[in-house]
Amino acid sequence: MLTLGQATIRTITDLDPFRLPLQFLFPDGDLAALEAERSVLDPDHLDFETGEILLRVQSHLLQVGGLNILIDTCVGEDKERPRRPDWHRRQATGYLDRLASAGLRPEDIDVVLCTHLHADHAGWNTRLENGVWVPTFPKARYVMGRTEHDHWSALEAAEPGQHNHGLYADSVAPIIAQGQAELVDDGFSLAEGLEIRALPGHTPGQIGLCLCQGTADRRMLFCSDAMHSPVQVYQPGWASRFCSDPIKAIVTRQTLLDEAADEGTLLVPAHLRRHTAMGVKRSGGRFIPEFL
Ligand SMILES: [Zn+2]
Repeated sequence: MLTLGQATIRTITDLDPFRLPLQFLFPDGDLAALEAERSVLDPDHLDFETGEILLRVQSHLLQVGGLNILIDTCVGEDKERPRRPDWHRRQATGYLDRLASAGLRPEDIDVVLCTHLHADHAGWNTRLENGVWVPTFPKARYVMGRTEHDHWSALEAAEPGQHNHGLYADSVAPIIAQGQAELVDDGFSLAEGLEIRALPGHTPGQIGLCLCQGTADRRMLFCSDAMHSPVQVYQPGWASRFCSDPIKAIVTRQTLLDEAADEGTLLVPAHLRRHTAMGVKRSGGRFIPEFL
């Protein structure tokens, strides 16, 4: 658990580790270029023996101002994901038990923030009940970026089930149908000191959440997949295979790194393992992470 001013931040794991070959995740990646960072990256973030990046698929639970905010909802259970065996029809993952260990039942969640609508970020939006997908968090407002929602909604309408592992139909449409979705734009304020920020590039409408409290001397930005791995602190120009606009993703990441280094903003990447957040410093013309 991490505290910042009046806020507490916990991670709720769904799948760990999630391993991907370096050059599969980052087509421009080069293991040799990271050799000097081996002691920082290995074994938590990069396995130098196998050349695999290690990620964690997790939610961040932010508790502040009397609100329980769940940021992203991972892969989920029972979802049909035949193209990715480790995501396919998962059972008994223990995810909700881990939420309970943090002291919360599903009905205690006030806000679910969907940073973007990839299948490893919105799966627990719903759960299967008597063959029907229902909201996992029955009292939550599910906040989604309007641009992001409209992008996937249009693809689903044009070619049902053909995009994004079918996530829209099983994990987004049921939330809309229940009237629990709230589509928001850049600059939307979730509550006092909690602002939505556009983080385009990874997907057309990815958003992050900025925690800017008067009582804390540092801002914290839940930056989702604008940063997949600390590897990209050293190599901001390595875009992921899954980025819809790699050039825009690099610009977004560079902007975040500059802000973190210059203003002390703490970054919370969605898939960061072992640590909850990181600061960034400049050293010899490049960036280095400082984990919290
Ligand atoms: Zn992701």
